[in-house]
Amino acid sequence: MIAVVPVRGGRLPVGADAAVAEARGRVLVIGEEVLAAAAALRVEVRELRACEAGPFAPATWAAGLVGDLEDEAVIVLPGSPDGRDLAGRLAGELGRACHAWCTEVSETHAVITRHDGVVSVRLPLDRPVVTTLVPHAVAGSPVASRAPAPVIVALRANASRDATVLEVDEADPAALDLGDATRIIAGGVGLGGPEEFDVLAEVAARLGASVGATRPITDRGIIGHERQIGTTGVTVDPTLYVALGISGAVQHTAGLGSPARIVAVNTDAACPMMTMADLAIVADAAATLRALARRLAEAS
Ligand SMILES: Cc1cc2nc3c(=O)[nH]c(=O)nc-3n(C[C@H](O)[C@H](O)[C@H](O)COP(=O)(O)OP(=O)(O)OC[C@H]3O[C@@H](n4cnc5c(N)ncnc54)[C@H](O)[C@@H]3O)c2cc1C
Repeated sequence: MIAVVPVRGGRLPVGADAAVAEARGRVLVIGEEVLAAAAALRVEVRELRACEAGPFAPATWAAGLVGDLEDEAVIVLPGSPDGRDLAGRLAGELGRACHAWCTEVSETHAVITRHDGVVSVRLPLDRPVVTTLVPHAVAGSPVASRAPAPVIVALRANASRDATVLEVDEADPAALDLGDATRIIAGGVGLGGPEEFDVLAEVAARLGASVGATRPITDRGIIGHERQIGTTGVTVDPTLYVALGISGAVQHTAGLGSPARIVAVNTDAACPMMTMADLAIVADAAATLRALARRLAEAS
């Protein structure tokens, strides 16, 4: 079993760590600046294959990887947009089924989930397959150790045609699926109501961050349910998480992944969110947010 991780500009896609953990550390990283991306993996890597293949070209990559992957019985890709795109094409080139959006994949079975986790089906794997894994469905233990020396994989030349890319627009953080966001600024009950969440949206836009919230906020209709982080909301894994007036209940933090940096603003210095934070600011959340909004407006 091997993970295949598509990379753009040296950046790992969402769910890369989970796919590599599920493949027990065997990974083929393909795309641009793949060694830099591989170095950013936060799970154990036992076998690293690196294919410097340029900008994302799923048809070319899938056809060019057949020889390298045909002996792998189970191939797992992250359930990121690029992972999902490449998975279908790989399955087509290899003449296999593609089991998409799994919560568990092994040599012997896959668990497929549908309808936001309401339905799960366990499928025995009795023939070679390609799969995609729900980002953060599994957690590998974080490691600081260096990856092994990479085996360099050359993409076989082929006549596959990919779409011509005319322009790449930067993702709009306000519209981005929260699960794909790398910076999130979130508010809870301690931040306030609709007015404060309007300011939060302005600040987020200036910081290039996406807005998140706790369940009481989405239950009150202050912002949409798709912005709720937690066990009954979205699972996220940003590098920066800013929590304003959030207590850090386990149902919320269980959906947080493992942000590299957490900043919390709360009047209760001892609440769980503050104890998890790298920077814990004991202050009124709404006042802090307004001060930040003013500073950002002055700076622009
Ligand atoms: C089955 C189940 C599923 C759930 N799923 C989710 C889920 O997916 N996501 C989720 O978020 N929750 C979920 N919850 C709810 C969860 O248990 C908590 O109730 C919720 O996360 C708390 O949200 P909160 O931190 O905004 O509010 P509170 O817990 O009320 O915390 C408010 C915080 O604001 C601070 N505060 C107050 N005033 C100020 C101020 N002026 N300035 C700064 N700080 C201030 C307080 O000290 C406190 O820490 C679930 C609960 C259940 C039972």
